[in-house]
Amino acid sequence: MNNDTIERLSKLFVRFPGIGERQAKRFAYFILAQQMSYVQALATALVSARSSAHTCTKCLRIFETGISNQPGLCEICSDESRDHSTIVVVEKGQDIEVFARTEYHGLFFVLGSLIPIIQKNIIEGTHVAYLQTRITQEKDTLKEIILAFPLTPNGEHTDQAVREIISPTLPENIAITSLGRGLSTGAELEYADPASLSASLKKRE
Ligand SMILES: [Zn+2]
Repeated sequence: MNNDTIERLSKLFVRFPGIGERQAKRFAYFILAQQMSYVQALATALVSARSSAHTCTKCLRIFETGISNQPGLCEICSDESRDHSTIVVVEKGQDIEVFARTEYHGLFFVLGSLIPIIQKNIIEGTHVAYLQTRITQEKDTLKEIILAFPLTPNGEHTDQAVREIISPTLPENIAITSLGRGLSTGAELEYADPASLSASLKKRE
């Protein structure tokens, strides 16, 4: 097989999270060895999934078009029956799914990335500035911002950094809390079990 073709495909796969150059190349060879019907189904599924995905203008999570009754807002943000006085701030959209299996019934915000310890400019690469804007816009209804990052060095650093950034301009009636003990150290939040997450939500401080 032409090396250029493998290179071209590998460059697309290497952008996947956690995929290195060797794995990307394996994917490229895998695709070339498949039946045309599979490759076509894969390409169609990717394009169709991506075209129906939108980013919520309020919480920044990705949602599927057609499941919300308010344009631009996901089904969580547009749900009037939810508690609009609390926002759980998570690293990524997948982290929200485990909250759906707890008693938490408030809103969310997706930071987009953790803030690595080594990073000097702590605002770069995350949506923390947008979080500040949202707090200002919702200051009359908001009561609590709950930071929910994994118990990893970068997660704890993010917790601290976000507090430092938002605290100076935070209205007095809004509290910042963090998840309490109960979650496993080092684990990604999206893999937390709902019971442990519930316990750590109750023990937030
Ligand atoms: Zn939303």
